[in-house]
Amino acid sequence: MTLDYPWNSAPSIGERIEVSKGIFWFRLPLPMALDHVNVYVIDEGDSWTIIDTGFWSKKTQSIWSDIKEKWFSDKPIGKVIVTHHHPDHVGLAGWFQTEFKADLWMSRTAWLMARMLRLDYQKLPTEETINFWRRAGMDDLILNERATGKPFNFGDSVHEMPLGFRRIIDGEKIILGNRSWIVRVGNGHAPEHLTLWCEDEPIVIAGDQIISSISPNLGVYATEPDADPVQEWLTSCEAFLPFSNDKQLVLPGHKLPFYGLPHRLKQLIENHHSALKRLVAFLKEPQTAVDCFPVLFNRKISDNEYGLALVEAVAHLNHLYRKKIVKRELNSKGAYVYTLKN
Ligand SMILES: [Zn+2]
Ligand SMILES: [Zn+2]
Repeated sequence: MTLDYPWNSAPSIGERIEVSKGIFWFRLPLPMALDHVNVYVIDEGDSWTIIDTGFWSKKTQSIWSDIKEKWFSDKPIGKVIVTHHHPDHVGLAGWFQTEFKADLWMSRTAWLMARMLRLDYQKLPTEETINFWRRAGMDDLILNERATGKPFNFGDSVHEMPLGFRRIIDGEKIILGNRSWIVRVGNGHAPEHLTLWCEDEPIVIAGDQIISSISPNLGVYATEPDADPVQEWLTSCEAFLPFSNDKQLVLPGHKLPFYGLPHRLKQLIENHHSALKRLVAFLKEPQTAVDCFPVLFNRKISDNEYGLALVEAVAHLNHLYRKKIVKRELNSKGAYVYTLKN
């Protein structure tokens, strides 16, 4: 069984594809290696619901203004649902709240994360962040460059967020587009990530929890340096499996909508297990997180992927460490070196 893609390509910017009656798929650009995000708009009869928003930038704002003018000028934007706190999803939520008086619906953790990070503006990376990079074994050259340069601030790509949101809870049923949807909360890619499972029609809105042709990034950050997102994510995938079937159209946050959810969930679980196996074999000799890039990713990591590769390598090592499969100690440079126990 492979995945089936009902559409070979995405709508061009400003255009839309009706994936099911009253559910529209749009694409927005991102200025990164992963150069786009999918957002969905649902017809509520007397208003529109937007699911995920793209980055906050003048460009995305003007694309949304054009989209609204062209497709949604007839009724108000009633609410914005944000699947998780990452900037490519929450970026313009605050703008929709202030500009269009839309309600914001999110999980509590995602909202708190977004608002906390939005208020955390740093001119230089904090000591904790530099320490985190050092412990991961970041190359000296890259570390020195990053330590003295302006860091990425969440607020650079996320609009100010006003106080107030509507919390969505795991297991809750919500009505969208005249259909009932069960909320299932996932973890690992982002804390309390929402996925929406339609009860009246086989559709799953998956955000970044489940994507077709790329594996969602599982990252550890200085916010929670000992986190084990790999375990959280495996647990979520396994919990979703019994609810998945081949008839479900999956609407992801990136890449193309697809059929074949059970297969994809198993494949994603298996990919991480095999990455962990390769790591275990590699850790017969002591290695830092950065040393593990080749064995984890099987390809050369480009400069603009370095940050994502680093947080993902730490995630996999934390998993082995928390499972007590490997031990770690600081080397003379202040980096953790990991080795198999006994
Ligand atoms: Zn994400
Ligand atoms: Zn994303």
